[in-house]
Amino acid sequence: MPNPRRSAVLTAVFLVMATLVPFTPGRAAEREGDTLEALRREASKARTDLEKATKEMEDRKKALATAQTKLRGTLRDLATAEAELNRIRLPLARLANTSYQQPGAAGSMAIFGGGSPDAALRSTADVTLLARSQQALVDHADELQKRKQSLVSAAQDLQSRNAIDQTRVQQQIDGLKQKSSTLTKQLTAMLSRLPLDQRLAASCDKSLATKSRQFPNGLIPAKYLCPLPQKGAQLRADAALAFYKLNAGYKRRFGQQICVTDSYRSLPDQHRVYAERPGFAAVPGTSNHGKGQAVDLCGGVQSSGSSQFNWMESHAKVYGWIHPAWAYSNPFEPWHWEYGTDGDR
Ligand SMILES: [Zn+2]
Repeated sequence: MPNPRRSAVLTAVFLVMATLVPFTPGRAAEREGDTLEALRREASKARTDLEKATKEMEDRKKALATAQTKLRGTLRDLATAEAELNRIRLPLARLANTSYQQPGAAGSMAIFGGGSPDAALRSTADVTLLARSQQALVDHADELQKRKQSLVSAAQDLQSRNAIDQTRVQQQIDGLKQKSSTLTKQLTAMLSRLPLDQRLAASCDKSLATKSRQFPNGLIPAKYLCPLPQKGAQLRADAALAFYKLNAGYKRRFGQQICVTDSYRSLPDQHRVYAERPGFAAVPGTSNHGKGQAVDLCGGVQSSGSSQFNWMESHAKVYGWIHPAWAYSNPFEPWHWEYGTDGDR
């Protein structure tokens, strides 16, 4: 006979040990899950960084193209102005020279004491005016030339600065590409070592649930849903993530996965089901199947009172899945199960 006191002590010690040393396989799986999650986040960040850098590169190229177009326009305007100046500079210079050397009848007469003093003054004024105009033209031409030079050198600066920046960004992009590819490879390798349901769970991004809610009932694009291990079945991300766990629990109990006949149902499918079984299927556009948060099950669950149904009834809610009240009687649908009990139902 074992000493009852001693057994009690041993039991107590065992219980304490069990509390202190958690079940190791579970912990290992959890750790692996954490690593995977961290890796997934890193890979996702690397992709975002790469997208950002690529956009920066494109923006830079666009800015340079705009600056160059603007510069070409300005240089064209300058060239026109310069050509105009050149066109009038020569005749004006000639005219000034001619007037200066041969100030005309009036000018000569003024210098040599002949003719009207008025005319002589006018002539001298004309010469001065012409000379001044010519000087102004020359100044203006110089000014234009200087502006042109400074524009050209600014453009060259911009070009070489941009080339340096572009090289830097390109190197950054290459590095990011490398990083993203390495991380994606690691992630893929890690995922491929996992069993299918864990792999699906790891690839199902919970934030997709918010996006898929933006679509009308039965019109959610496949890329916003997550696939179930059961072939062809899909659910909204939050429902799917909960289903993976429910499925794992079920598998531990029955040695096989939950049998699924229907999950997310597109609007055309809902129309078809409704036409076939009007009393059973929801009016198209109102079904929880169309929201990706309901499943129809088989493999025993479809029969109320079966061990599979009973297990579901007592365990599903732990994973957020319920058998809605109406499905007990109106109409009686033991196979129909839904995710969530919030206002979304
Ligand atoms: Zn259903």
